[in-house]
Amino acid sequence: MTWTTIRKRPAGDPPPNLPDYAAARANFTWAAARAELEGLPGGGLNIACEAVDRQVHAGRGAAIALRWLGKTGERREFSYAELATLSDRFAALLRQLGIGKGERVCALLGRIPELYITALGTLKAGAVFCPLFSAFGPEPVRVRLHKSDARLLVTTTTLYARKVQAQRAELPALAHVLLTDLDAAETPPAATQSFQHLLDSAPTCGITLDTRAEDNALLHFTSGTTGSPKGAVHVHEAVVAHRLSGRLALDLRPGDIYWCTADPGWVTGMSYGIIAPLVNGATLVVDEAEFDARRWYSILEQERVNIWYTAPTAIRMLMKVGAEAAQGHDFSALRLMASVGEPLNPEAVVWGQETFGQPFHDTWWQTETGAIMIANTRSQDVRPGSMGRPLPGIDAAIVRRLPGGGIAVLDIDQPGELALRCGWPSQFRGYLHDAARYQECFVDGWYLSGDLASRDADGYFWFLGRADDVIKTSGHLIGPFEVENALLEHPAVAEAGMIGKPDAFAGNIIKAFVALRPGFTPSDALRKELIGFARTRLGPAVAPRELEFMADLPKTRSGKIMRRLLRARELGLAPGDVSGLESDDAEQAES
Ligand code: ATP
Ligand code: MG
Repeated sequence: MTWTTIRKRPAGDPPPNLPDYAAARANFTWAAARAELEGLPGGGLNIACEAVDRQVHAGRGAAIALRWLGKTGERREFSYAELATLSDRFAALLRQLGIGKGERVCALLGRIPELYITALGTLKAGAVFCPLFSAFGPEPVRVRLHKSDARLLVTTTTLYARKVQAQRAELPALAHVLLTDLDAAETPPAATQSFQHLLDSAPTCGITLDTRAEDNALLHFTSGTTGSPKGAVHVHEAVVAHRLSGRLALDLRPGDIYWCTADPGWVTGMSYGIIAPLVNGATLVVDEAEFDARRWYSILEQERVNIWYTAPTAIRMLMKVGAEAAQGHDFSALRLMASVGEPLNPEAVVWGQETFGQPFHDTWWQTETGAIMIANTRSQDVRPGSMGRPLPGIDAAIVRRLPGGGIAVLDIDQPGELALRCGWPSQFRGYLHDAARYQECFVDGWYLSGDLASRDADGYFWFLGRADDVIKTSGHLIGPFEVENALLEHPAVAEAGMIGKPDAFAGNIIKAFVALRPGFTPSDALRKELIGFARTRLGPAVAPRELEFMADLPKTRSGKIMRRLLRARELGLAPGDVSGLESDDAEQAES
C-alpha cells in the first residue's frame, strides 16, 4: 500500500518553532546554539543548571517544573525554584559524602520525585548520573552497578532488599546506599542511610557549580536489542543538543505541558523525560503507573498535555485496545505527538491522524547520539513510514563501508548504513571499558549507526532495519520494517517481527512472528490468509514463507522487539545477553 503524505492544516496553535527548515539549516551554527545557554561563570557548563537554575534566574522560579501523578491518585507539584533547591541540596550531600567529580551515582527507582532530584543533583555535583530501570532483576542490576563502578546508589527499601542487598559484597566500590522511603523514626537497614534524612540535613545555601562542557555527565546503557548493553558516556556539552532538539523537533516552549512516556532508566526518559523539556521551560508530567490505555487517555485530556513523546510499542498497544477507548476524550490541547525507539509503521501514523486529529511524528536517534538527529517536525508534511529529515546542525548520509577501509556515500534511494558527520554536542564520548568498539563506530569523520536506511530525493530518511536484522533471501536484501509493516496493515495483526531462517535453496527464508489483536484467534486459515495478504503487498520474493503466532513478541524493557531472540529460539541457539529482556522472564530465556 502506498501511504499518502499527510498535509497539515494550520491550526489555531502558535506558529511552529521551526517554520522554515531550509533557512534554519542554512543559517545554523552550533556556536550560536551554545550561546543561547546561560553557562557557568568562567566558561563552564552544567546540564542541571541549564535545566532548572536558569529558569529561576529568568524569573520563572514559580512555574511548575514537575507534576507527579502517583499510581494511586496522589498528585505533587514542584516549582522550578523548589527543584533548584532540592537538587542543590542533593549535590551538597554528595559532596559531604565524599562523592568526587566524575564518580558514578546510580538510581534504581520507579518514576518518583526523588529520581528527578537525584538526577539533577548528581549533575550539579559534577558526578556522573547512571539511571537503572527499576524493573531490572538482580543480575542486570549487579552487572550495571559493577560495570559502572557505582559509588552511590539511590533506591527504595523494597528494591534494595530484592535486587541489591544479597550482592552488596560483590560491589566493593559501592560505598553508599540511600533509601528514599524510610520514615523519620525508622532505623535504616545495615549499610544504608535515609535519603530524606540526609537531604533534610544538607546545607540549604546554593552550591558552587564547577563543571566544564567536556566533563562526563551521564552514563546510559543501551537497550541490549542487538547484544550486550553498552555503556555510552555523555558530557555536559550534550545539553546544547537537548535544548535545540527539544525546541525544533518537539516544538517545546516555556509553559508547555509535556509528557514523555519513557522511563528515565532509558536515554529517552533522561534526554527528553527530564533535560530537554526543563531546559525549554516546560512542565513535566510524570506518571508513576505502568501503561494503561484508559489512564493514558485521561492524562492526555485532564492534564491538557500539549506535547506528547511516546514510542511505537505503546502506540501499537493503544491501537490493540481499540479506538473506542479514545472516544469521548478532549485532546484539543495536543499540539504535537511524536514517537521514537523503534520503526513507526505507517499504519500507526495514520491511526494517530484518525484518533487524535494529527499524525504521530517519528523521530530517530540512539543512546549514542544522545539527542534527536532526524525528525518529522511540526511544520513539515508527514510522510508516513519516514523518520523525517536531519535537524539543523546534523549532517546525515547513507554510506557503505569499503572493504579496504573508508566509506562511500551512496546516492538517493540506495539502501546503506545511516551515518552522521561527527561533531554534534551530544555525541557519545565513549563506550565504558570498550575503547575498541567505540573506535569501530567511526570512519573518516563519520559515525556509523548500525542502522540501515535510505534517503529520498527530498532528503527524507526511511528506516530499513538494523544491520544485524537485515536478511538476504534469493538474492534480495530485505529489511524487517517493510515486511512487518505489510503484516501490520492486516486488521488481525497487533505486532509483527521477522527473521531470516537459513534455507538450503534460498539462502534464507523469511519467517514472521505475529501477535493478534483481541477478537482474533490463531488458526491455519488465518496463517494462510496473512501470508497471502503479505504476498499481495510485497510480492512472493519478500513475503514471509512461514508464520507463527505468539501471545506477545519478546521485547526489551524499553519496548523494542528482540528479533535476535526470535532467531535464537527458532534456530535453537543460545539466547545471548537477555539482561534487558522484558519481564516474562529473563530467567526463562536463560535456562
Ligand atoms: P543495543 O545497541 O544494545 O542493541 P538499542 O540499539 O535498541 O540497543 P537504543 O540506543 O535504545 O538501544 O536504541 C536505538 C535504536 O533504536 C536505533 O539504532 C534504531 O535501531 C532504533 N530506533 C530508534 N528510533 C527509531 C525510529 N524512529 N525508527 C526506526 N528505528 C528506530
Ligand atoms: Mg544500538
